[in-house]
Amino acid sequence: MDCVFCKIASGEIPSKKAYEDDKICAFYDLDPQAPVHILIIPKEHIASAREITPENSGIVAHIFEVAAKLAEENHLDNGFRIVNNCGEDGGQTVQHLHFHLLGGRSMKWPPG
Ligand code: AMP
Ligand code: ZN
Repeated sequence: MDCVFCKIASGEIPSKKAYEDDKICAFYDLDPQAPVHILIIPKEHIASAREITPENSGIVAHIFEVAAKLAEENHLDNGFRIVNNCGEDGGQTVQHLHFHLLGGRSMKWPPG
């Protein structure tokens, strides 16, 4: 499958990894929107948040556990933001489920 994040998960495309286990990996975004900007993905290809089911939803809990650990490691003690963009209106540009962990600056609300 021609999916850039599947290729990052398999190591075919290089990335700066922040975390990896048998089910998920986390790597630094190429175009950071905050001093800390890490993407966390399942290694299994799930296209978007729309494809979360009772069978695969455990991976989301695991991703959030690792996000909390990465936030702590990156000293985001004053807070952080976890973002998932889904579909065209959500601004999703890579069709493989991913969560942005953003921190190190004050965030605005609502997002644009
Ligand atoms: P989204 O707009 O939510 O689909 O986010 C996709 C994100 O992936 C963007 O923030 C891109 O900068 C990032 N991105 C795309 N290709 C790569 C890559 N090869 N390595 C790291 N980050 C990437
Ligand atoms: Zn994929």
